[in-house]
Amino acid sequence: MITKHDPAYFNERREKLRRRMKREQLVGFLVSKPENVTYLTGFSGEDSYLLVTLDHAILISDSRFTEQIREECPGLEAYIRPGGVSLVQAAARMIKKTKLSTVGVEAGSLSVASFGKLQDAVNGVEFAKTENWIEEHRAIKDKEELQRIRTAVTIAQRAFQAVRATLRPDQSEKEVADLLDHQMRLLGARRSAFPTIVGVGPRAALPHVIPTSKKIGEDVFVLVDWGADEGWYKSDLTRVVPTGRIAPKFVKVYNTVLKAQKAAIEAIRPGVTAEDVDRAARQVIEEAGFGRLFGHGLGHGVGLEIHELPRLGPKVQTVLRPGMVVTVEPGIYIPNWGGVRLEDDVLITRDGHEVLTSLPKDLDEVATV
Ligand code: ZN
Ligand code: ZN
Repeated sequence: MITKHDPAYFNERREKLRRRMKREQLVGFLVSKPENVTYLTGFSGEDSYLLVTLDHAILISDSRFTEQIREECPGLEAYIRPGGVSLVQAAARMIKKTKLSTVGVEAGSLSVASFGKLQDAVNGVEFAKTENWIEEHRAIKDKEELQRIRTAVTIAQRAFQAVRATLRPDQSEKEVADLLDHQMRLLGARRSAFPTIVGVGPRAALPHVIPTSKKIGEDVFVLVDWGADEGWYKSDLTRVVPTGRIAPKFVKVYNTVLKAQKAAIEAIRPGVTAEDVDRAARQVIEEAGFGRLFGHGLGHGVGLEIHELPRLGPKVQTVLRPGMVVTVEPGIYIPNWGGVRLEDDVLITRDGHEVLTSLPKDLDEVATV
């Protein structure tokens, strides 16, 4: 649950949306993405929409959440839909009741079916399909959001250190993932930020590997990609731990990824574009001859969602601004051999950047920790 706030905290966010609505000549905006509803209200339940008008905000929900709304969003107007009235029907009712003529909808989250039903239910209303309006606001974190991300980082790091300290060759990928998840919860996380990835040897080359019964001792290194959800805000890290006698090839791949990551982090400051930062890492990997083996973007924003704006990658012209938090996660993936990826969370500050994560990553440190 978001800390109890002065309702003005959330109203200020809605005012920002209203300013954009006015610029784009909309008198209403239907928020359907759950994280955006949370961002604008502090409400943490599900199956709810928020209808924002130029002078009102109505949370459209159902009776399961009546009490929670009172607690989490004091003073916020709510429409609790009666049984038998669907969420879309309830939204249509509120659009009619508030006599809105032009309403923005979130094209990225409202399904085609729901949008069709909404249009049928409110004749004569003009809908505008919008994309990323609130997500763009969410990209810049305020002081409290940063504090929450820092907590999510601390939890994830402490959990990793605890599991790392007792890592044994006979543990399976799944066991290690489960232990990490458990540790994060014990340390105060609501849950893991996403399904934890633990990949031994060649399995580390699969970007979204599901942990299996393969044992840690079956190869000489293991990739772990994990993060904590502290209540809302998330962290996201990746480390590769040598677990046996490592060959020169591993050292070369690992150090190339590390050098690429450091170059990208060094390039981060306000005013540079996302593609510039991506290029800083990609260049190092290309020069080492592994260019084709780094197939994904460099990183992504992290916050209420594990993947959010801004995206760091080739051809992404987003300009980085203070308050953004991004992951920096270059990788080299070699089929049948394995993959190395290193991931840290970085805050863009007024005069540069601050790396929020602090787990060791130089090879001699990871090998001996
Ligand atoms: Zn990750
Ligand atoms: Zn990530």
